[in-house]
Amino acid sequence: MQRIVVIGAGQAGASLVAKLRNMGHDGPITLIGEEPQPPYQRPPLSKGYLLGDMVLERLFLRPEEFYAENNISLKTGTPVTAIDRANKTVTAGDELLNYDHLVLTTGSAPRTLPAAIGGDLPGVFTVRTLADVDAMAPEFTQGRNALIIGGGYIGLEAAAVASKLGMNVTLIEMADRILQRVAAPETSDYFRELHRAHGVDTRENIGLERLTGGDHVTGAILSDGSELPVDVAIVGIGITPSTALAESAGLDIENGIKTDAFGRTSDASIWAAGDCASFPHKGGRIRLESVGNAIDQAECVAENILGANKEYQAKPWFWSDQYDTKLQIAGLNTGYDRIVTRGSGSDASFWYYQGDKLLAVDAMNDPRAYMVGKRLIEAGKSPDPTVIADVTADLKPLLRA
Ligand code: NAP
Repeated sequence: MQRIVVIGAGQAGASLVAKLRNMGHDGPITLIGEEPQPPYQRPPLSKGYLLGDMVLERLFLRPEEFYAENNISLKTGTPVTAIDRANKTVTAGDELLNYDHLVLTTGSAPRTLPAAIGGDLPGVFTVRTLADVDAMAPEFTQGRNALIIGGGYIGLEAAAVASKLGMNVTLIEMADRILQRVAAPETSDYFRELHRAHGVDTRENIGLERLTGGDHVTGAILSDGSELPVDVAIVGIGITPSTALAESAGLDIENGIKTDAFGRTSDASIWAAGDCASFPHKGGRIRLESVGNAIDQAECVAENILGANKEYQAKPWFWSDQYDTKLQIAGLNTGYDRIVTRGSGSDASFWYYQGDKLLAVDAMNDPRAYMVGKRLIEAGKSPDPTVIADVTADLKPLLRA
């Protein structure tokens, strides 16, 4: 009858508690979240939900009854303020809860712009929670001027929605090119052109000097001195792992809550998974910011709490929807030294190699390239690049080679 308490009711927390019950754990489980809603999917927030194509209930990961039916005590709207490791308790709202195993799935928080440069003006939003998107959605209307700060996936997806809604969209990216942190120049070029074709004014190598306005944001001054009228600003400048609680409990932190290969933190009774956790990977450490990782790592931790003793093997995959383009990514491209291009125009894929080794694939509107690439990477197979580059060559036989 081990008592399991999970702090953080996002994708990782929700996956973990479901897996525990699914594997037959019948002791008490408590899932605690700060937001008022039951666990929900975040990916649609910057796409279908912001566009108004998706109703709230469709965002929920499980129907609300799921938790009671599975005897999971779900405490929403409940901030956890302290962990007492010596007594194995957490302070959740005004309650003190005992645990035998504690799991931290606290996620991450968006970086914000300092108030000194207008970051706190009304009309300036980050995109992370339902509350964020509910607040910004009424400002997304035809003919208004949207400034998107940051050319990562959050920025690009928000730009696509704003443009679809008939707004005048400018996107600024401080680095040399959009998606620089996560993708090759070929992928950046593809998305720059896609956004240009939809009327988005993308300006790279440009930072924000400051936002201007009084009761509401009304303009922006950019690092090249140019000025823009702004009715709504979206800040998509990255996220930081939510480690404050772990830190104040004295757990080891290293670009996130430090875990071993099994998901255990520096305290053997406390585990971590998802955006907040950094774990061993190929001789170093890594922290992955993705839904796929949140699910897989949380499920692995659930198994380990129940005694599986299984090392977590990340199989990274991501996706992004912008306009009618579906980008699917398999693998991690870190260390690549060349790109092999398959296809052209709107249906293309870029294959990342390090020497002869295939590391990752970015596939645009090409689910087959993604599926084959993912399976090859997971199997440790590296196909001949000339076959990849030949669009007339069938990829499927590569899986049997
Ligand atoms: P991100 O991938 O870190 O991109 C943020 C971008 O903003 C970076 O290119 C950054 O450049 C740039 N930037 C930083 N400060 C800036 C400034 N003051 N002015 C202009 N540009 C600035 O993060 P994100 O797009 O905010 O997304 C947050 C997380 O959610 C990421 O992990 C992302 O992958 C994930 N997400 C995923 C999806 C998806 O998979 N479909 C969708 C949405 C979000 P530097 O790198 O030079 O700092």
